[in-house]
Amino acid sequence: KNTIFTQIPATLIPGDGIGPEVVEATVQILDALGSPFSWEVQQAGMAGVNSCGDPLPAATLASIRKNKLALKGPLTTPIGEGFRSSNVRLREEFQLYANVRPALTIVPGRYENIDLVLVRENIGGFYVAHEYYIPVGDDPRAVAVSTGVNTRDACKRIARFAFEYAVKNGRKKITVVHKANILKALTGIFLEAAREVAREYENQVQMNDMIVDACAMQLVLNPWQFDMLLCTNLFGDILSDQLAGLVGGLGMAPGANVGDDTAIFEAVHGSAPDIAGKGIANPISLMLASGLMLEHVGRHDLAQRLRTAITETLNKDHIRTGDLKGTASTRQFADSIVRRLETI
Ligand code: ATP
Ligand code: MG
Repeated sequence: KNTIFTQIPATLIPGDGIGPEVVEATVQILDALGSPFSWEVQQAGMAGVNSCGDPLPAATLASIRKNKLALKGPLTTPIGEGFRSSNVRLREEFQLYANVRPALTIVPGRYENIDLVLVRENIGGFYVAHEYYIPVGDDPRAVAVSTGVNTRDACKRIARFAFEYAVKNGRKKITVVHKANILKALTGIFLEAAREVAREYENQVQMNDMIVDACAMQLVLNPWQFDMLLCTNLFGDILSDQLAGLVGGLGMAPGANVGDDTAIFEAVHGSAPDIAGKGIANPISLMLASGLMLEHVGRHDLAQRLRTAITETLNKDHIRTGDLKGTASTRQFADSIVRRLETI
């Protein structure tokens, strides 16, 4: 199917909950598309614990280190002491300092014509999770303390990433989201660094800033005023779910974790245990993530065909999963996309 293009080895992690279902659907349409990826399937999350006693097995890390490219289903963190989130560990291990989360209206719902990109600092902030308790009297956990860490270098690195992304993708404005009135040091340094980097792009990209609470409200009142959002780790986590809500929910939200040499593509949503195993999950988030992955390797042509097939399946064939008020199963939806691809 794809003889003139060389194969690109990539790690494929089915993950937990609805992960295997949406990964299977995504691989099916990538095959139909003639994607260049040759998959190395590896386990992580609870699936990693169950198969080899480790939520992030050495073989999985080695595969990503070799390929520098992965498509990943959601990973559940085992509950209990001693387990850190595998997602967070992957970001740290491969220094995936940028998280890119586009939100684009495909099915008009509460809002139309949303076209936003959120860039989230992916390693620092409160996710460093220096957390501990201080005992008082006979209560060993009387006081809880959490420390966030943002370095000036890391803040400038993510700001530069965002501005470069804006230039490359024709984006005109970046809104820096912070809480510098309260978290003056932790998020103040983020704002300062962004302002400094913005000066280098003065003629190409505008910058403004907004306090996170005001931004949350403005995203509901008038989301069209925004073009790109640049956020610290925790605020980016929260606001990217809000962006997903603007375009139809977590089933519509892809994400890319990007570092200097490695990139891992995923859906913004988690393992959705409430619907896992039922075959009804919306696979669009991971499909769109695979589209970002195709663009990452220079196959904008295939990414465009993929997005067209998704759009036409939703809006011309009216085939949708339950979260979009349709009746299609994950498989039926994927089959429809494959049929659509034959016409594009
Ligand atoms: P985790 O602990 O892994 O993050 P979670 O319980 O937070 O899991 P999420 O996956 O974050 O669950 O999603 C929250 C809810 O949104 C789910 O319970 C599910 O009902 C819905 N949801 C998320 N992703 C999808 C999807 N792809 N298709 C349909 N519904 C989804
Ligand atoms: Mg969740």
